[in-house]
Amino acid sequence: MFTPEAVLFVVFAFAIGGVVGSFMNVVVYRLPKRLSLIEPPSHCPHCKHPIRWHDNVPIFGWLLLRGKCRDCGQAISPRYPLVEATVALMFGSLMILEFALQGVNLPRREPIGTLSVASDADWYLIVLYHLTLLCVLFCGALIEFDGNRPPAKMYMGAMLIGLMFPLQWAMLRPMKAWPDEPRLLAGGIDGLFGLAAGGMLGYAAWRIQGTKQAGGLPWGLACAGVFLGWQAALPVGILAAIVGVAIAAVFPRKRSARHIPTSVWLWLLAFLWILSWSPLVRWFELP
Ligand SMILES: [Zn+2]
Repeated sequence: MFTPEAVLFVVFAFAIGGVVGSFMNVVVYRLPKRLSLIEPPSHCPHCKHPIRWHDNVPIFGWLLLRGKCRDCGQAISPRYPLVEATVALMFGSLMILEFALQGVNLPRREPIGTLSVASDADWYLIVLYHLTLLCVLFCGALIEFDGNRPPAKMYMGAMLIGLMFPLQWAMLRPMKAWPDEPRLLAGGIDGLFGLAAGGMLGYAAWRIQGTKQAGGLPWGLACAGVFLGWQAALPVGILAAIVGVAIAAVFPRKRSARHIPTSVWLWLLAFLWILSWSPLVRWFELP
């Protein structure tokens, strides 16, 4: 189980997650403005001084600077290290559950692929597959939180990955679309079922909310359907919409509470779903 190699991989995953989170801060800021993601390198938004490499280390850079620019002393938002820590947590927790503990979180009832005899490389691929979905959902949620429209291309790219990879590696899908689904179809058709279910529910929820939000919800939920199947997309989507409405009802006077887009809850619930997938399937007796 927790071999020294697995521990090393988990620590490494946390670190890589921090770096990806740092890049995500850049993506969320620059993508809606159609700026280059590579040039110019990170700089202070106030004084434009480039950030030194040792101050740019995810999470720790901000802590060492105590949240202030080394050059002009202006405050740097705590959101940057928070995003980095959140992505590090996603990478680390999935690496523990799906790699070190060999997918204890995944449903194993009638696995469609070779999940029961998966190799280390297979588990690693499952981690990367789920992280692709969660990173795109988190990115879209942050862009919407800032009041911008997440680019459809980002979701389409993710959907392409989500549809293509299981054609070759069927173990990426631990659930069948229906109980006696032919094995031959499983890798391909499950993703399309999820895409249709998630897309339709997301579009309906977005319309019901009065389309005030930026429209990432249908795209994000379609992505969740592609990667996790319709059995996950429907409850996650419905719960996300309910949480959004409930938060707004509990804090009717708080503008900040009403301001949280449903895409944020979609990302959070998809993450929680993956973490607790197998007990959820057992409780609700999903097909
Ligand atoms: Zn500065």
